Amino acid sequence: MFDELRKALKDWYKVHHRDLPWRHTNHPYAIWLSEIILQQTRVDQGLPYYNRFIERFPSINDLANASEQEVLNLWQGLGYYSRGRNLHATAKCIVDNYQGKFPSTYKELIQLKGIGPYTAAAIASFAYNLPHAVVDGNVYRVLSRYFGIELAINSSEGERLFKTLAQDLLDEAQPALHNQAIMEFGALQCKPVSPNCSLCPVVATCVALREDKIAQLPHKVKKIKTKQRFFVYHLVRNAKNQLAFTKRKPKDIWEGLFEFPLLEFKSEAEQITFLKDKVQVGAAYKHILTHQKITAYFIIDNFPAAADTEVIYLDLADLEYHPIPRLIDKFLNAHRHQIFSVGQ
Ligand code: SF4
Repeated sequence: MFDELRKALKDWYKVHHRDLPWRHTNHPYAIWLSEIILQQTRVDQGLPYYNRFIERFPSINDLANASEQEVLNLWQGLGYYSRGRNLHATAKCIVDNYQGKFPSTYKELIQLKGIGPYTAAAIASFAYNLPHAVVDGNVYRVLSRYFGIELAINSSEGERLFKTLAQDLLDEAQPALHNQAIMEFGALQCKPVSPNCSLCPVVATCVALREDKIAQLPHKVKKIKTKQRFFVYHLVRNAKNQLAFTKRKPKDIWEGLFEFPLLEFKSEAEQITFLKDKVQVGAAYKHILTHQKITAYFIIDNFPAAADTEVIYLDLADLEYHPIPRLIDKFLNAHRHQIFSVGQ
C-alpha cells in the first residue's frame, strides 16, 4: 500500500505540479524565504512577495544588513507581521552565528526564530535532501482520506499518529520530491472541497472514497474556548451571626446551589477597580471548570442587592442541608473563622 501510494504521488507530481520559482532551486535561503512567506498565505498571493524579496535581498547577508523597517515595508500587505520580523531576526542570527551559511540539520533549523517542525522539515528535505517528512494541512488531508483515519488531526494522539505515518511513508531515497509531491497532491487533487476523485491515481485503494467519508475527513475536534469569569462574593452577616446566601439561577453553572451574594464583572480590570478599599478575606481563588475559569474574591461588605435577588440567612451548620459549589466550600474550610473575626 505504501509503495503504491509513494509511486503514484511522484508520478502524479511530475505531470501536474505548478511551476514555481522556489522549485527550481535547492538553495536554503530561497527555500526558507518562500516557506516563511507562504505560511498562512496562498501561493498566488505570496508569489509576488517572494519575487520582490529575492530581487531586493538576493542573499541572506543583504537581508541581514537591511533595517527592520525596510523589511517590514516590503512585507506590507502580507499580514502577520511577526513573520516579517522573525525573518529579519533569523537572517541576522545566521550571519552573526553561522557566518551567513544556513544551518543544514533539522536540529539546528528548528532552533531558529519563526521555524517550526513543518518549516524545518521542508528546508531540511528541499535544500539538503534529508529524510524528514513534512506534515502540513495538505498532508493531513491526503493521509486521513487515503487511509480512512478518523482520529482528530488536532488531538495530540492524532498529531503523533499522522507524524509517524508521514515519516513511515516518506521515500527516504527522494525526500524532497516525495514531500513536494504529497503537498501538491493535497493542494490540487485531494482538495478540501470537491477533490478530483474521478481522475485520482489512487482511486482504487482510497478508503475514504470506498467508505463514502470524504466530506468528514480529515476530522478535527472543535476546541471550545475557555470563558473567563470574574466573581466578587459578599460576606454579609446578620445580628445572629448568620451569613447571607442566594440560590443560583437556571441556565448557568451550579444551578440551584447556594452561594454568597455575588457580583460578576465583565473583565479583570473592572473587578480589581471594584475591589479597591474593600475588606477582603483571603486572596483570589482560581477555580477551573471544563470550559470556564473563575477568579473569585470574597469581601466583607453590604450587598447592593438586585430586586430579583432573594437572600436567605443561614447558620453555617445549616449548610449541610443546602448544597454549595466546591469553590464556596473550599473558601469556608479555609476562612470560616476569619469571616466572623473581621468587623463589618
Ligand atoms: S480518491 Fe479522492 S479522496 Fe481519495 S485520495 Fe484521491 S482525490 Fe483524495
